[in-house]
Amino acid sequence: MNKFIDLGSDTATKPTRGMLEFMMSCEVGDDQKQEDPTVNALQERVAALLGKEAALFLPSATMANEIAIKVHTRPGDDVILDSESHYVTSEAGGPAFLSGVSLRGVPGMRGIFSGEQVERAVQRDDPHCPRSRLVCVEQTTNRGGGAVWSLQQLQDVAAAARKHNLATHMDGSRLLNAAVASGLAPKAHTALYDSITLCLTKGLGCPIGALLSGDAGFILEARRYKHVFGGAMRQAGVVAGAGLFALDHHVDRLAEDHANARHLAELLAGISGIRVDPASVETNIVFFDVADTGFTGPQLVTLLRAAGVRMGAWPNETQIRAVTHLDVPRADIQEAAARLRDIVANCDQRVRVAS
Ligand SMILES: *Cc1c(COP(=O)(O)O)cnc(C)c1O
Repeated sequence: MNKFIDLGSDTATKPTRGMLEFMMSCEVGDDQKQEDPTVNALQERVAALLGKEAALFLPSATMANEIAIKVHTRPGDDVILDSESHYVTSEAGGPAFLSGVSLRGVPGMRGIFSGEQVERAVQRDDPHCPRSRLVCVEQTTNRGGGAVWSLQQLQDVAAAARKHNLATHMDGSRLLNAAVASGLAPKAHTALYDSITLCLTKGLGCPIGALLSGDAGFILEARRYKHVFGGAMRQAGVVAGAGLFALDHHVDRLAEDHANARHLAELLAGISGIRVDPASVETNIVFFDVADTGFTGPQLVTLLRAAGVRMGAWPNETQIRAVTHLDVPRADIQEAAARLRDIVANCDQRVRVAS
């Protein structure tokens, strides 16, 4: 059987032997009492990395995002964000369920919107209107294909938010991809944002975990909601250790994932019927269009799966998404593209799928 190549998501990574050995060596304590030295070390390290006063270790980036909204808003408030952001598409209605807020989606370009769009989305100060309270940006954009907000774009939105007294949150689940791709320190990206989510289970390769970062008062409140939402853990240093290991060993190498994604896009662009612009691949996410192959996205993804390659058929019938990561070396990228080329070249399969 062919080697299975998982390009479905960068969450597919499994902890390396080195990571597991380090996790076993970490000292632990009761994190609900803030007595886990490994969790405390990770929190301090991430706060410093992001240029904030404090950080809070959490089970997932979804929880970090939801706690951020909970702390920044009151029920009835309105949150301005990209209409395809993770909050809108992938958090099970959490903002409405947990915080009682409405989401005001603005149509970004690959997930990136402008200060002017924020200003147009701010509600009037009128008893009929929800109160605009918070702006959220996603760095890098997930549905936007891993696009990186420039510092200029981040400043533009932060300035509009400040003008209207809105808090700012950055869903920086893949912030370190943005930092590596731009060559600018994470702090430079986060400077104008009140709170930051950083996910450990994407390109960083950890099995569990995320951090929420902000000033000390914000994190004090966030810790309360961590408990409310059932996220307060005990000897969590076992997994926080993976985060420390990843920050030492898995950050600079994100550049390899980015080069692999670009290479994959170049190989795909050479397959008849596939449309993709390799220059648009800035980090580790590749979206490509298959309309002209005669297959739909779901058909191709099913055939790929049978050939031992996982990709995702979304966000629509003709698009496929592939994500590079730690567990997919360059040779597997080439192998995946070759298997896709064979499938597309095989008309008999097309007939079989259609019938
Ligand atoms: C994956 C992801 C999340 C959620 O991460 P989990 O740790 O799986 O909950 C949030 N935002 C973005 C942009 C993501 O890609």
